[in-house]
Amino acid sequence: MGVQVMGVQVMAPRVDPVPADEQLPARADVVVIGGGIIGASSALFLAEKGISVALCEKGVIGGEQSSRNWGWCRKMGRDPREIPLVIESLRLWQGMNGRVEAETGFRQSGILYLFKTKAEAERHEAWLDYAREYQLDTRMLTGAAASRLLPGLRGSWAGALYTESDGMAEPQKAAPAIAAAARRRGVAILGGCAVRGVETAGGRVVAAVTEKGRIACGSILLAGGAWSRLFCGNLGIELPQLKVRASVMRTEPLSGAPEISTSGGLFAFRKRSDGGYTVATLGVRTIDLVPDNFRLFPQYLPAMRLHWKKLRLRVGRRSIEEWRLPRRWRLDAPSPFEAVRILDPEPDPFVLRRAQAALSAALPIFRNVPIAERWAGMIDVTPDAVPVISPVESLPGFVIATGFSGHGFGIGPGAGRLAADIVAGDTPVVDPRPFRLSRFTDGSHPLPSPIAS
Ligand SMILES: Cc1cc2nc3c(=O)[nH]c(=O)nc-3n(C[C@H](O)[C@H](O)[C@H](O)COP(=O)(O)OP(=O)(O)OC[C@H]3O[C@@H](n4cnc5c(N)ncnc54)[C@H](O)[C@@H]3O)c2cc1C
Repeated sequence: MGVQVMGVQVMAPRVDPVPADEQLPARADVVVIGGGIIGASSALFLAEKGISVALCEKGVIGGEQSSRNWGWCRKMGRDPREIPLVIESLRLWQGMNGRVEAETGFRQSGILYLFKTKAEAERHEAWLDYAREYQLDTRMLTGAAASRLLPGLRGSWAGALYTESDGMAEPQKAAPAIAAAARRRGVAILGGCAVRGVETAGGRVVAAVTEKGRIACGSILLAGGAWSRLFCGNLGIELPQLKVRASVMRTEPLSGAPEISTSGGLFAFRKRSDGGYTVATLGVRTIDLVPDNFRLFPQYLPAMRLHWKKLRLRVGRRSIEEWRLPRRWRLDAPSPFEAVRILDPEPDPFVLRRAQAALSAALPIFRNVPIAERWAGMIDVTPDAVPVISPVESLPGFVIATGFSGHGFGIGPGAGRLAADIVAGDTPVVDPRPFRLSRFTDGSHPLPSPIAS
């Protein structure tokens, strides 16, 4: 059974509601498309710069990936290109409750990756070598040391990679808390308000066209998560992005189980602030085959080669829905964004059963804990698994912050800060070049990092 939030029916997981504005402003300096962690954070940092912002969300704030994720905020195992930005992001998370005067659930509770094989150990060692220059507190543990951190751990673990300063936040609270703070700083938050497209004059952005009317603006920031490629396509902008379905479950409260967020082969878990655990797996991802999988196949081949053992290719309901999706539309008629207020895919029971069995075998305390909820989210993945945070050269005034490839929650505040700097024309908080859109067309042929995890 779902509930009504901001006039929209919401299924699991339930997000904190954010007060919305009824009145569409005639004008804003910037229109932000999408009220996930990226859009909300960008809006907050733009508002802190004294820039007027309207944030348009087709469904509810945080209704898609940003409330469905595990809540891990980690530096450990990041793609080397993301490390400076994620360090900044963790710094921002630490002060976030104070900044937004609300509870985001952020805690530094540590993250641990258990491993069994020599190949995994070598990959983690290679990452540590690279990360050394950043002086992180990440270290390798023996299997025995890992067991001391995870009382009750069973199985033969060769060791673990551990970062004590990594943390977590509560996905159902964080983006709403940040959006609400942005609203208190003057951002117009428009829920149930899909942006259909962009109006241009003299080749640059002059307005966002929404289902509720037009907002004149100097810049548009697209933070549309899994919808960004479709939005760009109607503007003639090629953004390589595919969707991967990731399934999650939540347990009832459980006492005596580990505090440290942990992954180990087919299971991963995090203790929630409600006393239950978010449980899932890094080991399996479901891919619903859609036309884009075939269109973008050559660009994604290196990523598929790297992860092919983890992929479950399916043809199902989602495949049919996407085959039917219009790729071009007019701005004076309902767009595909109005047809799906909240992307709420079905969890894959096969994936969740495997995660539950693997977790119970490794930590028997989880064996009989009741599962309270199951859900899935659509991860938006780029060919190199690094986000696009970039102006679009062919359309002045149009900036993209998307493609966070399954790890945009932890880096969200930092990415919002960088996106706000780019939109405002300020000195960027980190070097933005690894995130430029043109890397896919300028001959760089960026690849996913083989040492990231
Ligand atoms: C199961 C799962 C587990 C994950 N675990 C982690 C984790 O532990 N740590 C981590 O760092 N990351 C994790 N991630 C990834 C993380 O959740 C995402 O990278 C991040 O939330 C992306 O935020 P976003 O704002 O870009 O996208 P979203 O949260 O998806 O928000 C995009 C919003 O844009 C809106 N929108 C789209 N088009 C329009 C339009 N035309 N008009 C108006 N609104 C529009 C959508 O409705 C949506 O609300 C996980 C993801 C999933 C699915």
